[in-house]
Amino acid sequence: MGSVLPPDNHVHTQWSWDAPPEASMVRSCEQALAAGVPAVAFTDHLDFTVSADGDRIAAERISPRPYARMRLLDVPGYLATVQECRERFGDLRIFSGAEIGEAHLWGASAQAVADGAGFDRILGSLHAIPFEGRLTPADAMFRRMPTDEVMRRYYAELLRLVEGSDLFQVLAHLDFPRRMWPRTAPPYDERDFEPEIRAVLRALAASDRVLEVNTKSPLASAELLGWWRDSGGTALSFGSDAHQYWRVGDRFKVAVDMAEAAGFRAGRDRFDFWRR
Ligand SMILES: [Zn+2]
Ligand SMILES: [Zn+2]
Repeated sequence: MGSVLPPDNHVHTQWSWDAPPEASMVRSCEQALAAGVPAVAFTDHLDFTVSADGDRIAAERISPRPYARMRLLDVPGYLATVQECRERFGDLRIFSGAEIGEAHLWGASAQAVADGAGFDRILGSLHAIPFEGRLTPADAMFRRMPTDEVMRRYYAELLRLVEGSDLFQVLAHLDFPRRMWPRTAPPYDERDFEPEIRAVLRALAASDRVLEVNTKSPLASAELLGWWRDSGGTALSFGSDAHQYWRVGDRFKVAVDMAEAAGFRAGRDRFDFWRR
C-alpha cells in the first residue's frame, strides 16, 4: 500500500497581494491532482495596512509595514474563484482559507474579515516584528543586529502571537526568518533557541491548535516535531506555501517521512490534519 499524501493546507493564488504572474488557482488545482494530494487549502494573504478600532497595533502606536503593493484581500473575488474551482474540479477537496499576518496586532480587523468570509482554514503567521515603533520585516532585522538576537525577538513575538490571538487554527512556518538568513552568518541551529521554541509550542498545544510543516525551504526537522510532541502537540498540517502553481504538494514525500519518523500519522479522514 502506497503512503497517502496529506492535504496541502497552504497555497497562494492570484488573490494574494504578493502573487507572481504565474499564480493561478485553476492551475494549482490541476497541480494538486497531478501531485496526488487529496485536498488543497487556498490560504491567500490577509494583511492590513490601516488599523481599525480595537487593533493592538494602533494602541501600541506601531507603524504598519511600508509595502506599497500590500493590499487587502478581495474576499468576494477570492470566494468566487474558489467556487468556480469547486465546480470544475469535483475530484479535489478545496478548502477556503487565509494566512493572517500578525493576527495579534490586527485582531479587530482580521476578525471582521474572517467572520464575513467563513474560511475553512486559517493560518497564523509572523512575517514582521515590532521594532523601534515599526512592524519590521525579518530581512530588515538581519541588517540591524546579530542573527541570534533576531531569532530571539522573533520567537518572543511568536509567543505573543499564539497567546494573543485565537483567530487562527494552524501556526505557519514557525522559523520564517531562516528564509532570509544572511549568507555570511553562522548556520542556523534550532538547538540554540530550544527554550524559546518550546515555549511557543507549549502555548500552541495548550490551545489545542496545529503546527505546520512548511515545505518551502528549509523544512522543519524531526527533532522539532519531537519537541512539538513533548509539548503536548497532537496535530500537524502540511503546507507547500506555493506562490507558483507548480509548487503545490512540493517535497511532501520528504515531509511525510519526517512526520512519520516523529510518530504522526494520517487519520481515517484523509482530508484532516495528521495526528499522533
Ligand atoms: Zn507566510
Ligand atoms: Zn504563505
